[in-house]
Amino acid sequence: MKYLSIWLVVALAWGAALYTNAQAPQPDGAGIEPGKLPAKWRAGGPKCMETPEWQVHEYNPDFYILRENGCVHYEKPFLYLIFGNDKAVLMDTGAGTTELATLVDSLVAKWCARKGREKMPLMVMHSHGHRDHVARDSQFQNRPGVEFVPAEVGAVQRAFGIKTWPETIGSLELGGRTLDVIPIPGHHPVAVALYDRRTAVLMTGDNIYPGRLYISDWPSFVASTQRLVDFTQGRLISHMLGCHIEQTKTPYLEYTIGSIFQPDEHVLELSRGDLLELNGVLKDLKEPTRVALRSMTLYPINDAVLQQMRKSREETETRQRRTMWSQPAPETR
Ligand SMILES: [Zn+2]
Ligand SMILES: [Zn+2]
Repeated sequence: MKYLSIWLVVALAWGAALYTNAQAPQPDGAGIEPGKLPAKWRAGGPKCMETPEWQVHEYNPDFYILRENGCVHYEKPFLYLIFGNDKAVLMDTGAGTTELATLVDSLVAKWCARKGREKMPLMVMHSHGHRDHVARDSQFQNRPGVEFVPAEVGAVQRAFGIKTWPETIGSLELGGRTLDVIPIPGHHPVAVALYDRRTAVLMTGDNIYPGRLYISDWPSFVASTQRLVDFTQGRLISHMLGCHIEQTKTPYLEYTIGSIFQPDEHVLELSRGDLLELNGVLKDLKEPTRVALRSMTLYPINDAVLQQMRKSREETETRQRRTMWSQPAPETR
């Protein structure tokens, strides 16, 4: 009996240790609702005439990822549409001004038909308030059946029960599906990450993705990254999914800003290991510094950097717009 209880204590401690390290006891899927990511996303071309404006990807029947095509807007953001039993949520409205609301309506209608449901209320919220994530907000504001949450601190706090911004973690209840809402200012003052407990996907907005991590408020970005590390401690993370890809498949090599055609993109998904690496690098730096990691680049911005970026974007975009109907593979160096 004595030995049995000792073993029980050892087993429990082992289990707890695994759990706090965000690992599972067995390689059996750990109870996470599975989904599939594409090996390659459609980025924008090579021929804009034959490229659809949106790529809709079914990660699983209740979780969809929409990618805006580079032919519509060079930012090519990813949007997320997730269904619970009582509500669906759309994160972001994209960069361009073409039609999105009718596409989302049709996706919701198809989901309802698949599930034998009459209708589904929709919440529209944002990873953060930059123009390339809110450009089609007007298509969703004041629409019947749509709860619209603007990218403003007060509205986000109220919608997700975030008591103290940015320290407290809030939540979004979709009915049988809870998403944790983690404030992560630093890239933008009103930024949140979403953690879907069902799929263990952590959506990291523009704070973390395979590309240039533009940092406008360094101390806030450092604190937000640590907040994400603390949050993921003890939780399983299947994928970290951000809102852009700017990295090529070649380590440490990015596409230039303004690229609309990216035929050899890095995959969208990053792992908790990437988050830990990022956090480690941030902790070691004494001041805002540009640092290229394997799959992302720390990119602190100020007026001079912004000016240089604008020039580079205009050059690349202008060149590619001229050839968008039949694009050559872009230069990445
Ligand atoms: Zn942004
Ligand atoms: Zn963005």
